Amino acid sequence: SGARVRRAQNKRLPQYLERGVDVKFTDVAGLGKIRLELEEIVKFFTHGEMYRRRGVKIPGGILLCGPPGVGKTLLAKAVAGEAGVNFFSISASQFVEIYVGVGASRVRALYQEAKENAPSVVFIDELDAVGRERGLIKGSGGQERDATLNQLLVCLDGFEGRGEVITIASTNRPDILDPALVRPGRFDRKIYIPKPGLIGRIEILQVHARKKPMAEDVDYMAVASMTDGMVGAELANIVEVAAINMIRDGRTEITTDDLLQAAQIEERGMLDRKDRSSETWKRVAINEAAMAVVAVNFPDLKNIQFVTIAPRAGRELGYVRMKMDAIKYNGGMLTRQSLLDHITVQLAPRAADEIWFGEDQLSTIWAETADNARSAARTFVLGGLSEKHHGLSNFWIADRINEIDVEALRIVNLCYERAKEILQQNRKLMDVVVEELVEKKSLSKHDFFSLVELHGSLKPMPANI
Ligand code: ADP
Repeated sequence: SGARVRRAQNKRLPQYLERGVDVKFTDVAGLGKIRLELEEIVKFFTHGEMYRRRGVKIPGGILLCGPPGVGKTLLAKAVAGEAGVNFFSISASQFVEIYVGVGASRVRALYQEAKENAPSVVFIDELDAVGRERGLIKGSGGQERDATLNQLLVCLDGFEGRGEVITIASTNRPDILDPALVRPGRFDRKIYIPKPGLIGRIEILQVHARKKPMAEDVDYMAVASMTDGMVGAELANIVEVAAINMIRDGRTEITTDDLLQAAQIEERGMLDRKDRSSETWKRVAINEAAMAVVAVNFPDLKNIQFVTIAPRAGRELGYVRMKMDAIKYNGGMLTRQSLLDHITVQLAPRAADEIWFGEDQLSTIWAETADNARSAARTFVLGGLSEKHHGLSNFWIADRINEIDVEALRIVNLCYERAKEILQQNRKLMDVVVEELVEKKSLSKHDFFSLVELHGSLKPMPANI
């Protein structure tokens, strides 16, 4: 039966494959000469035989180095898109698991899939999360990371020089990578992607303007001049916000003014707000930290991209950005369990307020997320997902409406207790995350997961509904 199980597993859809990646080099702007290096990588795929015949070694791995948002991921996709090969991706912070062996087995599965669907690009985001020099982290978390790193080294060596699977990894910290990773045949090629300069910013704005109804006389130079220090991700955002501005005013073209206004909003979001008291900063930090600390316990919500308390466009408080893997991989559907997890995360700010400030010092900071939880709980009950009320039909009867609310409230209460339990269990982690947030205002995915690794006490706790 072992063979049968194995065969069944082989038939599984590749989990790490990103479908429909259709990025081309023309979608990535402001690269200058870097583009030539990337064109060469494409040739390793398209003219692999020629390289091999001439005895040229094809690199096993390419390291894209640079700050967040400069387009490293976009570039890796463009390489796959230009070469016409499959694109597999994973974020290295997903490797950082508390259970020994999980990270390593994910790496193995990733490369197995990439090989079965070769030629392919494997993209590993934030390699430093797993590739930091061994021995730097003590404790069992460190052991687990070492196992994952070793597995990655084995996989890299397996493809050395063959050019059927090329790994591209991104990092902002090439300096802290384990030396074994950058040895010849592994990540032996580094490409630095800096923040764009003035001309680069003009080009990036223009790439994103391509698909938008821009006024003919838009002054890109003016916008580029006032966005010094911004990266591609922020510039892309400016064009989006400008488009929203236009629609709101009922106009049909995006003007220079729309762009300048959007740039100001983006800029303001980047700056610390000086008028917040330290008490407020702390309160917001507890609010955001609580969501992140609870979310990291749940498989579909734990892929946290960053945690911030810096006010951003349209958000008075901070926010935690989670990539919803469930939504991405299941075509928009949430499972019953992940909906409960979502409700629990939305209740975390309220639970944290109670734990850290006490019942009589509650603020209203959690009002919005508590609302989200309430409406998600109603969806849960109305959809017949609640065990107690299986089946939809009963609930469409008018005099049952009250019953729906009662059941939704029961679910909210259960999830609330669960959020509280997780937070109590992670007081130390909460304290350090809050402290770092107050100091730095934002934590990258890597910062956050390093703290989780050191101080987290994670346990998946299925809600008992
Ligand atoms: P990184 O991987 O370096 O953190 P991403 O590739 O994820 O950055 O960038 C996020 C988004 O920002 C991209 O999908 C794209 O819309 C925009 N962007 C970033 N850099 C560029 C660039 N050089 N040219 C065009 N768009 C860019």
